[in-house]
Amino acid sequence: MQKQKTYLDSFPDNNGYFGKFGGSFIPPELEKPFLQINEAYNKLSKDFNFLNELKSIRKHYQGRPTPIYFAKNLSSKVNGNIYLKREDLNHTGAHKLNHCMAEALLAKYLGKKKLIAETGAGQHGVALATAAAYFGLECEIHMGEVDIKKEYPNVTRMQILGAKIVPATHGLKTLKEAVDSAFEAYLKDTENSLFAIGSVVGPHPFPKMVRDFQSVIGFEAKEQFFEMTGKLPDMVTACVGGGSNAMGIFSAFIDESVKLYAVEPSGKGDKIGEHSASLTYGEEGVMHGFNSIMLRDEQGNPAPVHSIGSGIDYPSIGPEHAYLHSIGRTKIGLCSDKEAVEAFYNLSRLEGIIPALESAHAVAFAMKYAKEHSNEAILVSLSGRGDKDIDFMVENYPID
Ligand SMILES: *Cc1c(COP(=O)(O)O)cnc(C)c1O
Repeated sequence: MQKQKTYLDSFPDNNGYFGKFGGSFIPPELEKPFLQINEAYNKLSKDFNFLNELKSIRKHYQGRPTPIYFAKNLSSKVNGNIYLKREDLNHTGAHKLNHCMAEALLAKYLGKKKLIAETGAGQHGVALATAAAYFGLECEIHMGEVDIKKEYPNVTRMQILGAKIVPATHGLKTLKEAVDSAFEAYLKDTENSLFAIGSVVGPHPFPKMVRDFQSVIGFEAKEQFFEMTGKLPDMVTACVGGGSNAMGIFSAFIDESVKLYAVEPSGKGDKIGEHSASLTYGEEGVMHGFNSIMLRDEQGNPAPVHSIGSGIDYPSIGPEHAYLHSIGRTKIGLCSDKEAVEAFYNLSRLEGIIPALESAHAVAFAMKYAKEHSNEAILVSLSGRGDKDIDFMVENYPID
């Protein structure tokens, strides 16, 4: 008898579609190299040596499995049951190394010499520079000139790790220009380099590949949670920028009867430029090489976005999130800047865990939800630690 196909086996289809979302909208020159990446990934995702090497890296270098922790003090504050999957305890302090080490391993198996990527706040750049150092690969990070000034500690980190920073000097000199600049550099040398996308976004096969690499969060968590409590959580939640930590933890629960909440940043208001809640306020469209739900300005261009969490201010969302939401499998949670700040201090003071401001959005939503569902067990993806945010916080939200 044939084993029943799981959700993960069935989505995306061979062309990278989750329903009508996803796909690959790229210039013809990029079609061949992306096809090559896709074929290599299809083969390697079933290759014993590749999978074993990845497993070993995760255990001996990265610090996996990361624990699950029952946040007892936070739970009593809201009269609920909140568990944290501690992705903040990964080497480099966030879940991003889950896919960066795997993408770099893929580059190694493909015989590539260089990793190329763009970065906004610098978190993806730091994780990728770390992976490049580990594998002895060159690393070229494209970053808007404005972001280079704003995120200087991460620029320094990348340089210490041996990465070359390429400033994007045209247009608004931020993330969009960095993407253009990185794609241009990649086009010049697809033979020797791999473009390493930093979330479950971009053209096929990246949304699938990054999801698969991040699914380690969910599969570990499912087993650990069961071992701790003898059951599955009632609800699982995570913050969403592109959506990689959320897809990572959701992956293991899609086929189960577990509620899934993707938390979007409602920022400081509901007007364009005040938030980055793509699913809540967006519409269907193609951006950065894939079809999804996106925020547009009046001219139809990607809208300006805002969130206090610089890793989640993205005007679109991974296509799989658009699909899962469209069929009602996931729901949206909202969290404002203000609520994220409160959760940042609450988790720090009550549990001794300083969360990344991005992750604080998921914590804040879990706290709101727990107040209304006191008998449910809630599992939160704590995507990263907040060391990077402390200067910003004491300057803008002084400790009383
Ligand atoms: C980058 C980042 C995010 C947002 O990325 P996703 O792809 O949406 O997971 C969230 N939390 C932290 C700590 C990050 O560094």
